[in-house]
Amino acid sequence: MNIFKSFPQFVPQKVCLACQGCCRFSDKKSVWRPKITFEEIDETAWKNATLAKKLTAALDEKGYLSTTASQQVAVDGKPAHHCCGQLCEQSNECQIYADRPVECSIYPVLIVARGNKVVISLHLSCPFIQEYYGSEACDQYIEEVKAFFGSYEVQEFLNRNRHLAGDYSEYKDELAEIMTIDLKDDVKFDLLNRRLDVEQALKCTQHQQSGYAFNYLFSWHKFFKFEFKVISGFLCIFAHHELGCFMYLPPLGEGEPTENVINVCFNYMDSCNEDKSVSRIENVEAGQLGMFKEAQFKAIIKENEYVYAKKDIITLRGNMYKSKRADYNYFVTHNIFSYHPYDPSMKEECLALYDEWKKEKEEKSNDALYTYLLMENRDVHQLIFNEGAHVGIVGRVVKIDDKIRAYTFGYRLNETTFCVLFEITDLSVRGLAAYIFSRFCEDRALEPYTYINVMGDFGMENIKHAKESYRPQEIVQNYTVSRK
Ligand code: SF4
Ligand code: SF4
Repeated sequence: MNIFKSFPQFVPQKVCLACQGCCRFSDKKSVWRPKITFEEIDETAWKNATLAKKLTAALDEKGYLSTTASQQVAVDGKPAHHCCGQLCEQSNECQIYADRPVECSIYPVLIVARGNKVVISLHLSCPFIQEYYGSEACDQYIEEVKAFFGSYEVQEFLNRNRHLAGDYSEYKDELAEIMTIDLKDDVKFDLLNRRLDVEQALKCTQHQQSGYAFNYLFSWHKFFKFEFKVISGFLCIFAHHELGCFMYLPPLGEGEPTENVINVCFNYMDSCNEDKSVSRIENVEAGQLGMFKEAQFKAIIKENEYVYAKKDIITLRGNMYKSKRADYNYFVTHNIFSYHPYDPSMKEECLALYDEWKKEKEEKSNDALYTYLLMENRDVHQLIFNEGAHVGIVGRVVKIDDKIRAYTFGYRLNETTFCVLFEITDLSVRGLAAYIFSRFCEDRALEPYTYINVMGDFGMENIKHAKESYRPQEIVQNYTVSRK
């Protein structure tokens, strides 16, 4: 993880290679197994999608990486110990050393859970620490560790990823406390710390709709207070706002939720809502409608989502894309431009571009719903500029004459599909929209994906027309289900 690349190292690598103290555990569910965060997995994914997939598959419900039984056999014939699944036992080397989890890169420093605090501690069982603890070199190392964990950026990371703090109470005699960090009581962090549960529940089934992603949920947290309940093993996400309570997604988990689970969800929403018609489940996919008994429920199409073959958008080949190709070519031949990864230092300029774009759209529209969406989306864009990177949302900008004139952001929906969350361009520049869309699809970060979902049309004709003009390969219907 980038911010941990500068973590001070004390134990020489050659000492570790000769030691068999780390990466092996007496119990396959040991508290000493390394944990990993989705932030780390996201960062890996942009460089090495295969590794990110492997790490996601190796995650257990508490964020630990799974272990394998050692090939060494004890006297009783059982494995001598359990190894981290990323360890090559023969060479004693970590196979993902350059991308190893934060927990591994800071060891023998530990992040210890203590109520609403974390205690940064030194593990005295490491033989190298045993030898040098109390020495000037070790004291100096401890000071460097303190300075590192004193930084705002690192403390924010800990607040976002509380599951990294382990319960080592059984081993308290082996720990030397270095410093204590108070965790913040904040709705944003509460939601971010739900990511592991949500991602694990989403992993059970592949979905095509853009809403089935933690990062999308996160992008709406300023508008809704999300509440999570586990009902008969299904993760149920309720969204509360001033008009009442609804379910953001159908219950998530292994297989289909039973009739009873659905009824418990509706009863809960009804208990929150004075107006029972507010009780509903959103983002229901066509394939899920069977879980709702026709006699009891009604389903309406909320909107369509548009999915393209990525290669079509990159090449813009053939008669179907003639006008898009002409726009693209016009743009690249008539402008001095550059394409860049988004950086938080660009947020003011991006927001100013959004305001320009919004003004122009408002002037051309007299649809009250559309104007409201433009206003609401401003807050979502601002949130993503500030926090998107923490939940795996990537952004790109196009500069013309060194000024940002377009931006786009998106996220991984599943193994084959990438979602474009939004795209804003200077409407006066011919071909800029076609260029940034096509260029983003060609981006290295999107290499693992075959399809691009550009989300819904809000049931609005102008958006529908714009999204259809890129010739979708598939249209995904997005239903809302309520009681009759
Ligand atoms: S216990 Fe200490 S010396 Fe041994 S591998 Fe781990 S960090 Fe290195
Ligand atoms: S990820 Fe690598 S460093 Fe960490 S426990 Fe596993 S093998 Fe060891």
